[in-house]
Amino acid sequence: MTQTRVLVVDDEEMIRKGCKKILSDMGMEVDMAENGKAGVELLQKNVYDMALVDLMMPGMDGIEFLQHVQQIDEKIVAIVITGYATIESAIKAVKSGAYDYLSKPFTPDELRTIITKGLQRRRLLIEADLLRKERDRNLLEIASERSRTASIINCMGEGLIATNRMGLLVLINPVARKMLRLKNEAIIEKPIKNNLKNEELENLILSTLNNGLTEETIITKEIEFDKILEQVYSITLAPIQEENGEILGLVAVLRDISEVKKIERMKSEFVRLVSHELKAPIGAIEGYLNLIVDGLVHEQDKERFYAIIRKSRDKAVALQKLIRDLLDLSSIDAGQVARHLEPLNLKKLLVEVTDFMQNEAAQKAINIQLIAPDNLPLTRGDKDDLFRLFLNLISNAIKYNRQNGHVSIGIEVEGSFLMTLVQDTGIGMKKEDLHNIFKDFFRANNEFTRKVSGTGLGLPIAKKIVESHHGYIEVESEYGRGSTFRVYLPILSSRMDRSMKTVQEESVPGEA
Ligand code: ADP
Repeated sequence: MTQTRVLVVDDEEMIRKGCKKILSDMGMEVDMAENGKAGVELLQKNVYDMALVDLMMPGMDGIEFLQHVQQIDEKIVAIVITGYATIESAIKAVKSGAYDYLSKPFTPDELRTIITKGLQRRRLLIEADLLRKERDRNLLEIASERSRTASIINCMGEGLIATNRMGLLVLINPVARKMLRLKNEAIIEKPIKNNLKNEELENLILSTLNNGLTEETIITKEIEFDKILEQVYSITLAPIQEENGEILGLVAVLRDISEVKKIERMKSEFVRLVSHELKAPIGAIEGYLNLIVDGLVHEQDKERFYAIIRKSRDKAVALQKLIRDLLDLSSIDAGQVARHLEPLNLKKLLVEVTDFMQNEAAQKAINIQLIAPDNLPLTRGDKDDLFRLFLNLISNAIKYNRQNGHVSIGIEVEGSFLMTLVQDTGIGMKKEDLHNIFKDFFRANNEFTRKVSGTGLGLPIAKKIVESHHGYIEVESEYGRGSTFRVYLPILSSRMDRSMKTVQEESVPGEA
C-alpha cells in the first residue's frame, strides 16, 4: 500500500508544524502550505489523500480552498480546522465538501482520531469509485455485446422467431418477416396467435409451448407456405434456456427449402418415369421371348413377334443411352474427368471415332471425310473423354443429317489451339434454338427432329468435357442447310506439360 499523503494548510506555523509531527509519527507523508493559494498549487502538483485546512485564513479562506479541492479531486477527504466551533461555520464547511471539522485548540489524540476516520472515508470513496468504473465498463460491454448479437440475428440467412413461455412474441428478425410476408404485423410483446399470419406455424409454436418444453425439446417440421409458388419452409423449434437451466421460451428457426424439395420431387419423378418407361419394353421383350422359347408361337406369327421385340429393344436401347448420358453428366459434374491426362494425337483419335461411326453413317448413305495434316502438334487430354466428345458431335452430324448427306471433319492449328471442325449438310438449327443446345435436356422441336431419338444431354456433356480440358466450343448453323461445330483444345506446350503434370500428380494422390 502506498504511503498516505496529507496536505496541511494553515496560516499558523505552530499548528502546521504540530500537525506535521503527529501525522508523520503516524507514518504519513505531510506537505504544508501557509495560505490557500500555496495550498492550491501543491494540490495541482501532487496527489493527496487528505487535506487539513484552516477555515479562517487571510487571502483565500478555507471555504474557497475547499471548492478548489472539490474541483481538483473530489475524493480528497478534507477536514476543516476552526477557531470558532459554531454550528454555522461547521455546516458551511461541510456544505462546501468538508468531511468533518476540528475545533482549535485540539489535542493530538483528537487529531489522530479524526484523521483515522477520514482515512476510512477515503478508502470507501476509492472503493466506490472503482466499483462505479467497473460497473460502467460492464454496462458498456453488455451494450456492445447486445448490439453485436442484434446485428448477427438481423444479418443471418435464416428466419428467427422467439417467444416467451406465455406465447408472446419476443423477437422476429427481418428474414423471418420477409419469409412470412409480414410488414407491420408481428407485433412484439403481443400473443403469437394471429400475429404471424400463418396458422400452421402459430399452432406449431403454441402446441410445442403447451406440451411442456423441456431442454430436450427439438422439433423440426416442414410447412407448405405457398402451394402455388411451391414454397416450403423447414421450421426447427428449440427451447431458450437460462444458464441455470430455467426455460424462458422458445426459438423457431425458419429455412426456405423450396429448391431442395423441388429437386427431390424432380428426382423421384425422373426415377418413376425411367422405371415406368423401361418396364414396358422389357416386359414386352420378356413376354414375347417366353412365348417363342416355349414354342407357343406359330411359324407364321414369328416375324410379327420379332418386329415387336425389335421395337421394344430400340426403346430399351434409347433408355440405356439416357442412363449412360446421365451417369456421364453426373461424373463430369462431380469433377471426375480429365484424370488420365496424356499427350494426345488428335488426328489419330478422330480416325478412331470416324471409323467407329462409319456403320451408322452408311445406313443413311452419309459420307464422312476427315482432312487433317499429319504433323499436327499434340494436345493433352483424357482419351476416353475426348473420344466421347467427338463421338457426340459426329453422331449428331449423322443423326441430324439427310439421306446421302456429308460430314466433314478437319483439324487446324489456330494460335495456341488445335481447332477441330465437325461440319454437316444436315437439317441445321433455328437461331432461337442455338442459344439452348448446351443446356441439359434441351432438344430442338421441329419437323425433322421429331423423328430422331435423343436425350438432350450429348452437347452439355461435350461442352463440359471441352471446358475441363481448358478449351471452348463454338457453333454455327443455318436451318435447313447444316451445322458447324468448332472445338478448340490447347496445344501441348512444354510449359503446359509441366503444369499439367503437377495437376495430375495432385489429383491422383499416390500416383507419381
Ligand atoms: P440429343 O441429340 O440427344 O437430342 P444433344 O445434346 O446432342 O442431344 O443435342 C441437343 C439438340 O441440339 C438436339 O436435340 C438437336 O435438336 C440439336 N442438334 C445437335 N446437333 C445438331 C446438328 N449437328 N444438327 C442439327 N441439330 C443439332
